[in-house]
Formats: sequence, C-alpha cells, structure tokens
Amino acid sequence: MNGSTPAAVHADAGLTPPPPCRVCGSIRVAGRHTALEMMNGTREPFAYFQCADCGCLQIERIPADLARHYAGGYYSYTPPQRPANPLRRWAVHARHRWALHGRDPFGWLMYRRAAAYAMRSLRPLELRPDTRLLDVGCGAGLLIFELAELGYRSVLGIDPFIEADRAYDNGARVLKRGLDEASGCWDAVMFHHSFEHVPDPLATLRRTHALLATGGRCLLRVPTVSSYAWQHYGVDWVQLDAPRHLYLFSRESITHLAAATGFDVIDVAFDSDAFQFWGSEQYRRGIALRDERSHAVNPAAGLFSAAQLADWARRAEELNQAGQGDQAAFVLRKRP
Ligand SMILES: [Zn+2]
Repeated sequence: MNGSTPAAVHADAGLTPPPPCRVCGSIRVAGRHTALEMMNGTREPFAYFQCADCGCLQIERIPADLARHYAGGYYSYTPPQRPANPLRRWAVHARHRWALHGRDPFGWLMYRRAAAYAMRSLRPLELRPDTRLLDVGCGAGLLIFELAELGYRSVLGIDPFIEADRAYDNGARVLKRGLDEASGCWDAVMFHHSFEHVPDPLATLRRTHALLATGGRCLLRVPTVSSYAWQHYGVDWVQLDAPRHLYLFSRESITHLAAATGFDVIDVAFDSDAFQFWGSEQYRRGIALRDERSHAVNPAAGLFSAAQLADWARRAEELNQAGQGDQAAFVLRKRP
C-alpha cells in the first residue's frame, strides 16, 4: 500500500473482497472506506470496512509495519508529573477522589473546572484500597501513577511499547510487557484507548477473562462509531486515526465480543469532548493533528475562536447525554 494513492486503494477495494468481520465473523459489509493517516500527516491511505451485522468499522488488512506509525512520540508515553505546589496537588487529589467515588464536594468543584474522564470512567469498578487493578496499554502509566497517589497499592500497568520497566516513588509500577505475558489474578483489568489498537479483540478479551477473578470487571474505553461524529464526519472523523485504530467499535460489537468471551456488559458511559469537532474539522480542511496550524500544536494561532470551542464542548456534553458521543467506557463483568 506504501506509495499508492487513495484512488488506487478504492480500485483495489473494488476487486478484492474485505475479510470476514474479525468481531462477529459476518461477511456482510455495510460500507468500504479509505481513511488517510492524519495524525502525523503522511496521508497514506488505508482501507476500512464496516460490518453490516455488528457495525464494527475495521481496517481491512492489518499493516505488517504498524510500529512505524507510532514513531515520533505517541502522546501516552509522556511520563506523569506531580504538581510542585502542595495546594494544587491537594486539589488534584480531591478532583480524582470525586471522579472515583462522587463523595468529595470540593473535588466536585475542581472536577467542574477541569474534568478527568479517565478517572471518572473507573467509578463503576467500585475500587477499594486493595483492589487488584491491571492497566493494559498504559503508556507511561499516568493513571496508575495518579491512583497510587491516592493510596491504591495493588495497581500495575503493562505496555509492550514502552522503553523499559518503570517504578515511581509512590509505588506505581509499569512493566514492559504485553497481555500474553501478564500473570496473576486481578479484580479489574482496564484498557484506556488501547483496545482499539489490538489486532485480535476476541483473543484479547479471552485472555483478560482468564486473568480476572470471578465477578471481576473489565473496562474498555474506546472510540465508537455509534456516534454523531462518525455519522457526520465519516473518514474525516479524528478518532478513526488510521492506521493505528484497527477497530472502531459499535455498541453492538462490544456486546457481541462480551457475550462471546464470557462477560456481561453492565455499564456504558459516553465521555467524548470537543476534540471530536475541532480535530475532525481540521482533517476536513486537510490539516494534520501535528501540523503547525493545528489547535493541538498551536492553540494560540486561533484556528477556532474561544466561543466556537466552548460551543463544541457543550455539544459534546449533549451528545454524551444522548449516548452519541464519539467515545465511551464499557464495563464488562465476568460471568460466574
Ligand atoms: Zn461484525
């Protein structure tokens, strides 16, 4: 596919049928699409298809050289930092405690000022100080680090793509390994925007099931095609993120995966933000995420007005309430 044009991929897609759906096995196709690499802005084309039965949008062929597309610093590998100001540190902890348990009034105020969606998504896991929690594809381990700051001691992150194992001074640990190399028995296993990157979601959930205690919970936080953004922006949808996102799951496809691997879906919470709008609007205009003009690189350049960004934040919240935001947290419980 290297060096080919979008037109060439379309032509090829017309001759070669897509593979069966890697979620539900169906060969019925709802649509075929060409998405360009737009985070780095190489504009290489990649063919995707959407399953007519479970609705999952997926890359037709997983590139053999996928690692190349993670070069140049993927955002989640930036190491966590503790605020130097003790007052600020206290405010961050209060915000996170509210996100986890909903009990700290001051934390609620802090959360209103700056949301912490990843931490908020953990609330259905009902964490206790001794909960054994594994974060898969954790990058530098930001979330594990923050949980250790709050006193959670039995937390571990794994990621096969980090440079080396890391141990933080608060007890948080991150190991350079994949899910296949993970061991132990866990009360909860979570994937924060990592599950859409794994080549075989069924095998990944089976492995997760084996690592969980009975009644244990699995959190899948993923972008979803069950969203306004996919409907409205199509292949310009910023969270399609070809070719790194191999799967853009629908609600139905997550339900199918859960049932096929011994889980029940017990909670779904949408937590999209304004990124779905400004990122997709940029792609529509041919502006890569890492372009000098991008709001992500240079917000002061003023590509979008403050009023526009605030309006998009409000619309994102409305979409979340309506169950149409472009990302969601699915909580699965291991069947007895
Ligand atoms: Zn399917």
